[in-house]
Amino acid sequence: MQKIYVSQCNDYSVADVDKAVNFCMKDFVFGVKKGSSVLLKPNILIGRSSADVVTTNPEVVRAVAKVFKEIGCRISLGDSPAFGNLKKALDTCGILAVCEEEGIDVVNFDEAKEIDTLSGPISVYKGIDDFDYLVNLPKAKTHGLTGFTGAQKNLFGLVCGMKKSKYHLKYPNRYSFSRMIVSLANAVKPSFNLMDCVVGMEGNGPSAGSPRKLGFIAASESAPYLDLFVSNILGFKHDEVGTLDVEHSEHNLDVNVNNLNLISNIDPGKLRVKDFKKAGGFKLGGVMSLLKKYVSPRPVISVKCINCNRCVENCPADAISKGSKIPVIDYNKCIRCYCCGEICP
Ligand code: SF4
Ligand code: SF4
Repeated sequence: MQKIYVSQCNDYSVADVDKAVNFCMKDFVFGVKKGSSVLLKPNILIGRSSADVVTTNPEVVRAVAKVFKEIGCRISLGDSPAFGNLKKALDTCGILAVCEEEGIDVVNFDEAKEIDTLSGPISVYKGIDDFDYLVNLPKAKTHGLTGFTGAQKNLFGLVCGMKKSKYHLKYPNRYSFSRMIVSLANAVKPSFNLMDCVVGMEGNGPSAGSPRKLGFIAASESAPYLDLFVSNILGFKHDEVGTLDVEHSEHNLDVNVNNLNLISNIDPGKLRVKDFKKAGGFKLGGVMSLLKKYVSPRPVISVKCINCNRCVENCPADAISKGSKIPVIDYNKCIRCYCCGEICP
């Protein structure tokens, strides 16, 4: 049975986060040797304040780094944001200050190499194999395309910069894109996954939703089983999460959460969120739900648009053009990847 560690964590105070992270990592750290190199991979989708809950909270990153520091590891941290410069994004969300204070090297995922996966070659950060441990630090959020973004989806950040667009074009629907993510996740296989579920994002995630207090941190050596546990707590069925749908259909993932081996300092029933708001793309019901692998709602330019044209420059399908006041979307070209929503400030 797959072990899932769960600890209550009411807020981002150093004491609470330290306690929860130490609980979740207590067994994993036994095998980690002094002098090992560790790459932390938080979710740095875009540079936004930590209060916007788009990124992994800096105090979670700090607590994990302190655990490895105590062992005597060399710690690095990296990601490839969907838009803009990594250091600037880290500065905006508060993680750069943590890196400076805790002696963490910042690694830009700017050079790529191809790795073999079940979906064919995927181009990822060239230095991925230079570390003894890849430690995945996702944030619990909704996602317009995959339903939920947790541990497996967070690994798409290993793909360098604009190369991500290539995969959105190559795998244009929910199932094919999720299948590529699963192939990538199973090829790089993080050593450990620890998810920031203290305050998650509900509604229009992964960048335009609303903060939702969840009150816990969860971790596992298995990315898909961690996603299964957390998404179930939030009220998702496994087939509402693209990556879990693929894992179950093609890799026999056991989706019965009762079969998980929970190591918890709180009754998980108390963590359950009954009215968690899913992303708009997955409110399909009745007959439409039968088609959900293939049907997704149109992205819409919000009335709050500030006409920055980020979406025009970054749409992988070239479906957005400059308009007189706000951009215009050509729905015949649009592949419903929701990248425009992810990078919209
Ligand atoms: S990225 Fe957002 S704010 Fe900027 S032009 Fe596009 S819709 Fe408007
Ligand atoms: S308009 Fe938005 S959802 Fe459509 S292809 Fe472009 S980035 Fe993706």
